[in-house]
Amino acid sequence: MFDLNKIDILSLTYEELESILIEIGEPKFRAKQVFSWLHEKQVTSFSDMTTLSLKLRECLNEKFYINRLQVERRLASSIDDTVKYLYKLSDGNYIETVCMSYNHGRSLCISTQVGCKMGCQFCASAIAGFIRNLTPSEMLLQVYETQRNENCKISSIVLMGIGEPLDNFDNVMRFLKLLSDSRGMQMSLRHVSLSTCGIVPKIKELAEYKLGLTLSVSLHCPYDEERSKIMPVNKKYPISELLDACRFYEEHTGRRVTFEYAVIENLNSTSKAAQALAKLLKGMNCHVNLIPVNPVKERNYRTIKKTVIQFQKELEQLGINATIRRTLGSDIEAACGQLRRDALSKKA
Ligand code: SAH
Repeated sequence: MFDLNKIDILSLTYEELESILIEIGEPKFRAKQVFSWLHEKQVTSFSDMTTLSLKLRECLNEKFYINRLQVERRLASSIDDTVKYLYKLSDGNYIETVCMSYNHGRSLCISTQVGCKMGCQFCASAIAGFIRNLTPSEMLLQVYETQRNENCKISSIVLMGIGEPLDNFDNVMRFLKLLSDSRGMQMSLRHVSLSTCGIVPKIKELAEYKLGLTLSVSLHCPYDEERSKIMPVNKKYPISELLDACRFYEEHTGRRVTFEYAVIENLNSTSKAAQALAKLLKGMNCHVNLIPVNPVKERNYRTIKKTVIQFQKELEQLGINATIRRTLGSDIEAACGQLRRDALSKKA
C-alpha cells in the first residue's frame, strides 16, 4: 500500500521503470515482465508476479508500492446500465468515475484532479473547490479498478470527470502514455476523448503531440461577455483565441474537434445564439454535442427538452453538425462532481 518512502510504480513510464531496474542490477528485459504484470495482467501485489524470483519480488516490495483505490460508494442506475463509483484515494480524498454502457462497449468517464480551479458556474466540481492534481496511477487505476469491480473491459475513455485535464498536463500526458503502451493496457488513443474548458496554450501544446485522441472543447456560449460570466476561463482566453487554437489542433492532427454545449434555458439557447454559434464555427470540420444541462442544486439552471431539439434543428439548418447527448444515470447523480460534493458536505 501507499508509503511515502516508496516509489509509486504504476506512475512510472516503461523507460523510467527500466532504468530503475537496471540501477538495482536487473537485466534490461526485466522491465518487460514487471510492466506486463502491472499494466497487462494488472496485479495488485508483487507476490502475484509469479514469473519473478521470490527474492526479486521482496526487493520490489521494499522499493515500490502498487497504488490502489478504495470503493467508498458504488451506485448503479435503475434506468440504464450506468454505474458510478466514489473512489477514496490513499490520502483520504475522493474522486468520481462513471462507467457507461453503449452498443459498442463500455466507456469510462474519469477524473483528472481532486476538485477543479476553473469555477464554471453550472458545474458541481467548481462548488466543492480544488485540492490537488491526480497522479498518473490514480487516473490509470480508475480504469483498472473499475474493470476489476465490474468484471468488464473498458473500450473507451473520456477525460470528462472532475477536474480540468489541461491544468494537470504532465500527469495526463504520462497517463495517456501508460494507457496506450503496447506492452501494457494497449488502448488506442483513438478511443480516448479529452475535454477542456479552453486553456489555449495547452491545446496548442497537445496538438504538437499528434496523439490521435479527440479534443472536446466546452464552449457553452457564443458571446464573450456571457461566456465570461458562466466560465471565468474566458476572461483569460476569449472565444476568438480559443477557436484559433482549435483550428490549429485540427490542422496539426487532422482530427475533428467536438464542441460541448450545455443547453441552458433563457441563457444560451435562443435562435440568435444558434446563429452566432454557426457563424463562429463556419468552415471548421467540427461537431457540436448538445448537453441538456444537469441541474445542480446550488444553481438555478435548467433545460427544457423542446428547446434542445429546436436548438439542434436550427444548428443543422445553418449547416452545423449537432447531436444531443443521451442523459445517462440521471437517477444516480452522474453529473460531474455531485457525489464528491455530497460526501464532503456530509462529513462537514
Ligand atoms: N474541465 C473539463 C472536463 C470536465 S467537465 C471541461 O471543462 O471540459 C466535463 C463536461 O461537463 C464539460 O463540458 C462541462 O462543461 C460539462 N458540465 C459540467 N457541469 C455540467 C452540468 N451541470 N450540466 C451539463 N454539463 C455540465
